[in-house]
Amino acid sequence: MPNKYARKLAAKLAPDPDAFLEALEAGRSACPAVLWLHDSAESPFESKPPASWQPEFVQAVATGERPGRHALHDEGAYYCLDLSSVFEASALCGLSAGGMVVDVCAAPGGKTVFAHRALAPERLIANEVIGKRLGPLTGNLKRCKVPAETRCADPSKLAEELSGLASVVLVDAPCSGQSLLARGQDNPGAFHPINVNSCANRQKRILAESVRLLAPGGFLLYSTCTYAREENEDVLAWLLTRFPELTAQELPTHAAHRSPHADFPCYRLWPDAGYGAGGFVALLQHPISTP
Ligand code: SAM
Repeated sequence: MPNKYARKLAAKLAPDPDAFLEALEAGRSACPAVLWLHDSAESPFESKPPASWQPEFVQAVATGERPGRHALHDEGAYYCLDLSSVFEASALCGLSAGGMVVDVCAAPGGKTVFAHRALAPERLIANEVIGKRLGPLTGNLKRCKVPAETRCADPSKLAEELSGLASVVLVDAPCSGQSLLARGQDNPGAFHPINVNSCANRQKRILAESVRLLAPGGFLLYSTCTYAREENEDVLAWLLTRFPELTAQELPTHAAHRSPHADFPCYRLWPDAGYGAGGFVALLQHPISTP
């Protein structure tokens, strides 16, 4: 039974509070998808109908398929992820990266692989600050033959090294992970205000450093896999006040999921929508030239 904090969040934010709470309780919202690394690949899996924001190189697979156990997985033909991660990352589709892409919070590598596939940047940097998470990251990039450089640096150090150089920066932030419950995983304290606030403060610190990486005209993607407004719309409202030169971008492919909880464009996926466990995404642009 979702706790009082989850019920409070549902009442305040969810378009269908009962359906949201049922999805949390049932823990069956995960929706496996595969990101194909090559156009020519032939899928052995049955598909689900694609979402409006789903790129052609991603296949949502039918219930019962186990793509993580297929030999093609070990051969690096694809990367497995939840469809809600695709919802977040597909905000990148349509950008032409050209230069450098920096994934600030990269492990285990889903968004880095997505950025490689969607943008084919000249230079791709996958950073992970927690040393023990670097192994899975490098392992996945190697398996999928993604030519990324890896780093293990605090965002402040990364910003010193690569200041003003990135045409695209990804901040798939560490968060309270409330959507893990909708996947049937345990996450005690995910809705507790102390946890939510400490995550929000960490997200602000990471974002403030990550903005320094942006080249003129560069894009910053911010995403989480949590539902709390404090970690989503409120973090971005803070960022847009601190850096008023940034502008939040409309994403026409995501229009049906536009958040009503902000006066700038940002997008929410709920776990009862049928596209995975849920998440949040916004795309911000740095001005082409500063006055
Ligand atoms: N982008 C990854 C993907 O798609 O596979 C998932 C990233 S996960 C949501 C967030 C990552 O941020 C974790 O790997 C975590 O170790 C890292 N992280 C934790 N604290 C951090 C900090 N203070 N600065 C930067 N990254 C941090």
